Amino acid sequence: MSAAAAAVEREADRLTELDSPIGDADHGSNLLRGFTAVRAALEAEPPAAPGAVLALAGRTLISTVGGASGPLYGTLLRRTGKELGDAAEVSDEALRKALYTGVGAVAQLGGAAPGDKTMLDALVPGVAALTTSYRAAADAAENGALATVPMQARKGRASYLGERSIGHQDPGATSSALLLGALADVAEAQDGAEAR
Ligand code: ADP
Ligand code: MG
Repeated sequence: MSAAAAAVEREADRLTELDSPIGDADHGSNLLRGFTAVRAALEAEPPAAPGAVLALAGRTLISTVGGASGPLYGTLLRRTGKELGDAAEVSDEALRKALYTGVGAVAQLGGAAPGDKTMLDALVPGVAALTTSYRAAADAAENGALATVPMQARKGRASYLGERSIGHQDPGATSSALLLGALADVAEAQDGAEAR
């Protein structure tokens, strides 16, 4: 979550810029507000288990982010956290399965599917590639975000633009790739530390 918050801080301006032509220019500031609050909530009351960390982070996003992305990312984290339960340690496989369920909950809440030019265009291929590695997941999500450029938006604010949404990269797909990139960075750093 710290790595995610740091990545959002770094890229907030770019996310807001992407949200200008096909949205209301607030995606970066929405996530910055949300992840700043997540950081504070986790520092104030550090949960004992990874599942509880994600659940608290998800609740915090839902309560602090007004835009569509708050409830969607909040649901992703809450649902993933719930799947992890109160296990003190989480295997890669358990996290992969939990994230898969979490992404399913995002699709259910937002009623979107891959191809609709939303965060799911990065999350779905990203989570599918977790069977290979965290880096493969981040790369697949990045490619998924790039692939939203020629799509016409069918969900969310960008869908109001109809064909004029074509030719722009979806901000939510971009932030999803960013978050899976942060996960890959942390996983690789941890592997490196274990190898030493
Ligand atoms: P808002 O659109 O309310 O201003 P944000 O700008 O924070 O919220 O987030 C916009 C992003 O949310 C979009 O780029 C898209 O990826 C994602 N999004 C919007 N609606 C949906 C939906 N129904 N399902 C999945 N993702 C969605
Ligand atoms: Mg917006």
